[in-house]
Amino acid sequence: MNSEQNSSLPGVTLPQCKPARLLVGQTALVTGASSGIGKSIAAAMAAAGAAVAVNYPFDSEHSPAAEVVELIQSLGGRAIAVKADVSREDQVQAMFLRVREEFETIDILVNNAGLQQDAPIDEMTLQQWKAVIDVNLTGQFLCAREAIREFKRRGVVESVSCAAGKILCISSVHEVIPWAGHVNYAASKGGVMMMMKSLAQELAPHRIRVNSICPGAIRTPINKAAWSTPEAYNDLMKLIPYKRIGEPDDIARVAVWLASDQADYINGESLFVDGGMCLYPGFAEGG
Ligand code: NAD
Repeated sequence: MNSEQNSSLPGVTLPQCKPARLLVGQTALVTGASSGIGKSIAAAMAAAGAAVAVNYPFDSEHSPAAEVVELIQSLGGRAIAVKADVSREDQVQAMFLRVREEFETIDILVNNAGLQQDAPIDEMTLQQWKAVIDVNLTGQFLCAREAIREFKRRGVVESVSCAAGKILCISSVHEVIPWAGHVNYAASKGGVMMMMKSLAQELAPHRIRVNSICPGAIRTPINKAAWSTPEAYNDLMKLIPYKRIGEPDDIARVAVWLASDQADYINGESLFVDGGMCLYPGFAEGG
């Protein structure tokens, strides 16, 4: 395998499997879908047959979101772009109204929007703390609450899915791995874990499934500094037993499957997609 076929740095050529049509007849809302992991999930869910709402937060993100919509439409799928800052209750509610107006209902929420504002703890401002918690945790709560209201209103439609609705929270390995200099981010993802599990417990009797995907290092704009030079990439590899960075499609394929009825008995789980980052790689030679 030529490891540089689809990347400028040592990576991997991902297997090009034809996506199974696991989500036909369903509607998915993917937050923060104009770039990175969200963009890949939106495209993969559309390829799997879902109509997709592509959320973006600011006017500056409109063009990339429109490109995702055009890509999906050019492949014969249905998609719309919907602007909303997920940390704003009024905007989240308006977004769900818009999605229901266009697609009637919603079957899958992918809580993907997220950001980092890093600083040593004694230099971290309250604004930096709040900005990250507001988007990464409160944003997931606000979107989940609106989705759950719709799932409960509609209930199970057996011709569409075994479940009344599915929520995927995009968390991180940092829901369990502490991260110096990123305390706000790690706290937000730890919060996502307990929010997800508590929601799953509360909603299981309603046939609503709630799970998380916990990516390791994935090649996206959020962590460009960690992979964009050979030195940074080599350093990163010390943390990844599988010795390659993850690609957004690694997450997207898992998201399609986890949202589908093939994963119907999975509820309240954090699924780590990290090339073994959580395996304490330092102990491979030490300890
Ligand atoms: P990214 O920066 O490409 O994507 C983040 C997206 O969130 C962007 O499209 C951005 O516009 C959107 N966003 C930011 N604030 C928003 C708001 N207020 N409302 C709506 N959307 C908003 O980076 P990514 O790596 O694709 O990140 C996606 C998710 O994956 C994040 O939750 C991130 O924490 C998580 N994650 C990423 C990695 C990684 O290595 N890339 C690892 C673990 C977890």
